[in-house]
Amino acid sequence: MNRVILIKYGELSTKKGNRNFFINTLYNNLKSKLSNYDVKIYKDRARMKIVFKDDDLDNIKNVVNKIFGIHTYHIAYVCESNEDDIKNTLMDIIKDYEFNTFKIETKRSNKSFPIHSQDFNRVLGTLLLKNINNISVDVHNPDLWIKVEIRDDETYIYFNSYTGCGGYPTGTQQLGMLMLSGGIDSPVAGYLAMKRGVKIDAVYFEAIPHTSLDAREKVVSLCKKLACYTDKINLHIVNFTPIQEAIYKNCRDEYVITIMRRMMYRIMDKMCKKYNGYIIINGESIGQVASQTLTSMSVINSVTNIPVIRPVACLDKLEIIDIARNIDTYETSILPYEDCCTVFVPKHPVINPKEYVCVQEEEKFDYMSMIDVAVDTLNTIKVSDTDSLEFNDIL
Ligand code: ATP
Ligand code: MG
Repeated sequence: MNRVILIKYGELSTKKGNRNFFINTLYNNLKSKLSNYDVKIYKDRARMKIVFKDDDLDNIKNVVNKIFGIHTYHIAYVCESNEDDIKNTLMDIIKDYEFNTFKIETKRSNKSFPIHSQDFNRVLGTLLLKNINNISVDVHNPDLWIKVEIRDDETYIYFNSYTGCGGYPTGTQQLGMLMLSGGIDSPVAGYLAMKRGVKIDAVYFEAIPHTSLDAREKVVSLCKKLACYTDKINLHIVNFTPIQEAIYKNCRDEYVITIMRRMMYRIMDKMCKKYNGYIIINGESIGQVASQTLTSMSVINSVTNIPVIRPVACLDKLEIIDIARNIDTYETSILPYEDCCTVFVPKHPVINPKEYVCVQEEEKFDYMSMIDVAVDTLNTIKVSDTDSLEFNDIL
């Protein structure tokens, strides 16, 4: 019996003028992620259809579950759009299902099909009641909800509905630069931005020897997890050591985190210009730590005019953790490697920093040329969800 995966688009169906662009992007994303499988993908304005080999179904479902822009999908049996073939197919497939109650819902977009939807529900219902013992109709809470979609070219019959991950196809927006640390929050922020269609590059600030290669490996692993939802991700690794050491040498203790974050933002600003990024994305969450009070955020943010998107700004930590578990980044994020933000935490970081103090402190060293060097000497690796990476090769 022929089966296909039938995909419904969901939110992108609200994009009238851009519809084709959204559908084509989704199509290309699916095609690229399924390139290792023997599949054929067909698209029209209402839905997409994947023809697959039976043995691959579980693996293909795992891929489809991670493609943004898919609202729901069904594994559907296919037959010709004529009464006899639909009846025969239904009787053939229903043998494998155990149920006491059922409901039939026919949709007839093929108006040349001679029987109206409601009437055809009755035709099929009668057929089942006649041929299968001890079953009855329940339109409110059936054990088996049988959907029949009669279309021009073929008819789909299915009993299941799977929820996709929604959102817009990745790549329907321009590039955003994600500040990716080894923590819990930033991978979730990256996932949520991609879900809105944003394509991402990731940026990791490291401070070797104060941070370890294990910490870097952790960030690469997180990036790999995010790459399940998109194409390869460029991960830019920035050597932050000289700037960080200069801050600790020259600046007031309670201001070091604020200034460090202003330096990160300045580097992000430059990198957006260099790589054509339109937004900075990070995992800041209001009130979580001293550098994420509203006053801190404002003083830190003032070094750039590029929009900073904080997808988890208004989520509780537990809500963020829920998403992290769902996208399988949580277990990696909690591995205990230090980050450059955590190695030099002062005893009393300032909670309400003053911008003029930051400026005074920053004048104590030539940060501009150090930022130029940091951007000029960064290393970029392409991270995909499939390739294995030799971490020693990265340096
Ligand atoms: P956690 O998830 O445990 O809160 P975190 O990485 O979010 O860890 P924060 O100090 O809260 O740590 O940092 C706020 C945000 O700043 C991060 O979510 C991340 O986007 C960015 N960030 C912090 N450190 C780095 C780093 N070393 N490289 C890149 N981005 C960083
Ligand atoms: Mg955080």
